[in-house]
Order: sequence, then structure tokens, then C-alpha cells
Amino acid sequence: MHIHPKITPIYQTSVFKFEDLNELELYFGEPGSRYLYSRNGNPNSDELAEAVNRLEGGAGAVATGSGMAAIFAAVLTYCVAGDHVLCAADIYGGSAALLNQELERLGIGVTYVPFEDLTANLAPYARPRTRLLLCETISNPLLRVVDLQAAAAAAHALGVKLVVDNTFASPVLTNPLAFGADLVMHSVTKYLAGHSDVTAGAVVARTPEDAARLKQIGTLFGLTLSPMESWLAVRGLKTLRLRMNAHCYNAQAVAELLTQHPAVAEVFYPGLPTHAQHHLASEQGAGRFGGMVSFRLADDSVEAVNRFMRGSQRFPFAPSLAGVDSSSSYPAGTSHRALSEEQRQQLGITAGLVRLSVGIEPVAELLTDIEQALGATSSGNGG
Ligand SMILES: *Cc1c(COP(=O)(O)O)cnc(C)c1O
Repeated sequence: MHIHPKITPIYQTSVFKFEDLNELELYFGEPGSRYLYSRNGNPNSDELAEAVNRLEGGAGAVATGSGMAAIFAAVLTYCVAGDHVLCAADIYGGSAALLNQELERLGIGVTYVPFEDLTANLAPYARPRTRLLLCETISNPLLRVVDLQAAAAAAHALGVKLVVDNTFASPVLTNPLAFGADLVMHSVTKYLAGHSDVTAGAVVARTPEDAARLKQIGTLFGLTLSPMESWLAVRGLKTLRLRMNAHCYNAQAVAELLTQHPAVAEVFYPGLPTHAQHHLASEQGAGRFGGMVSFRLADDSVEAVNRFMRGSQRFPFAPSLAGVDSSSSYPAGTSHRALSEEQRQQLGITAGLVRLSVGIEPVAELLTDIEQALGATSSGNGG
């Protein structure tokens, strides 16, 4: 019987069988010819890693159990105890917590670099044992866009590797390796899988040496991804390009509506000509700006945000992003909760700041929903 499935089946197995010891020797003698144990490698997780590697133009990749595992693997690729990491101040809350609360404890120090100094003025933040600079292509929640080519040049001038979290941009907008990054990582949970039904990550390396390090780190720290999650992510990945087009189109329309609405004080979206890095974002993102939009309500208060959330049917509060269904999030209460009120004010994360993850629904339905939810923020004032 010849079975030729069109789609890779789910190899829901933790281990693989061998005919005899000769075949075992072939496993070691001909790397890549056979599978041994799913933590070391599995057809489904390899298919995901290879797909992300191809999208990012890398020399090899590893699929991980989460985006956090991907960041951990990336840092461990370059750092040992006594080393030091530079990290963009605008960074995912989990990345900062990992660096501050866990890696610091293991002897890997961290210094945060303000957005303005990431490219032009990096040297004062570095130490003799600084190994890497971690930043995001498009930051959360204010959607600032890092000039990756300049960041890579600044890092490399100091002998420091550049690690880019490309989660918000996705490889459809930007390939950080092409701009000089050494490693690029994703929370596959977000756009790559795209359906809010799987937790996964991936790291892609520019060189085969780093790819081999990543594979060993994934295997020995047990960071690798299960067959079922890999399969779901691969299925999601097949529509990435189509989904990103729809996310970008809808987000642009949402951002434009928000800028014109009296209940909104400020809109953050790289696709708006008023955005500080609009030109860079356009060049680096091939004319596309992603599906994330943040805005500050004119009534900059928790009460106004609550009225918006209760008034919206299409943007339920769900503190994640990048699914096909739209959602909203609240940076002051989630990603930036650990900061002091003063720190949040300094970053511009005020009480009335809302982050939207714009989905791929018919755009008119989203605009109508936002229109009426914004109406609720001000009409609620009197009552
Ligand atoms: C969600 C996210 C992560 C963490 O990914 P998980 O899959 O939740 O572990 C890292 N970086 C960014 C930018 C994210 O949005």
C-alpha cells in the first residue's frame, strides 16, 4: 500500500522505532536521515522550523514551546554567566521579566536602552562583556519602528550580536536577517499561527553555526515544540500572507477612522503619515504597517476605557494579539502593570491608552463597531 498524504500527518509520538543497532548507527552517522526522540526532533516541529526559516531567509531554525522559550534560547545562544545584554526599553513585558527576574539571577546582566539611543548612541550602555542587543521590529504598545539596519551596524561596531523579536511585523513585512540581524525570533502564538489556538515560538539563525547551537539548546533545555502544536502552527502559516494583507488593510482603515474621531486624542499606527517613523516603516515593511493600532482616548481615564470595551462587540478585551478575530488590550493593566504610575506616564502608557489587534473581518463591520463604542465613551460622561 502506498499512502501519500497531501498534508504532513501529525506524528503524535514521543519516540521512533529502529530495526536494529545498525539503523541506530545510521541515525548518528547520517544526520537528518531518521528520527529518534521527539524532543530532539520530530517531522512536525521540523516542518514548522523549516517553514519559518524559509520565510525569514535563515540558515536554520528551531521551533520552541512558546515565544518566551524562543527568547530564552536566543539569549543562551550568545550568553554565559558574567555576560551582559542590551535591551530596547520598548520591549514585550515578558522579555523584560525574563531578563530581570531570571537571567539576571543566572549572572546575565541587562541594561535598557531608550528608543532614541538604539541606533546612534549605543556605546555608553555597553560593557566589556556585552554580547547582544535585543529589540523588536515594531514595539508594543506604541508601535515605534526600529531602524534595523542602523541597529545592526551600531551593535556590530561594538562586537555585539543583534537579536530581533519580529513578532509584531511578521516576515511578510520585514526580514530582520536581511537588515543584518544575527537571530530573529517569533512568538508563533501571534501572526505566524494566527488563530489564537496555539502557543509556540521559533528562532531563526543567520549562520549554520548559530543554528546548530539553537538546536542543541532547544533539545537540552527541553524547549522544543510538540507535534500537535507544530502541526496547527504549520496550518496557520499557510495563510500568513493572505491574513497579513487583510490585517494591514483593516488596521489602516481603523487608524484613519480613529484619527478623525473627537473621542480620540492620539493614534499610534506606523501607516499614518503623522507617525514619527512612517517613512522608515514603509521602507522596512515593504509598504505595509501591520495589524496593531493603539490609541489614547480624549477622556484619558479607566472609566472611558471600560465604556469603550463594554460598547464594542468586535474587539473583546483579550490580552494577546494577532488572531484572525479582532481583540483589544489594555497596556496599563497588562504588559506594563509592573511599572510605577510615574514610569507609565513617562512612556506614554496612560489610563486611556487602548491597544487594538485588528483582525481580518469585513472592515465595514469593524468600523461601525468602533464608531459606536467610541460614542459610548463620551455619551457615558453625563450619566
Ligand atoms: C507574545 C509575545 C512574546 C511571548 O510569546 P509567547 O508565545 O506568549 O511565549 C514575545 N514577544 C512579543 C513581541 C510578543 O507579543
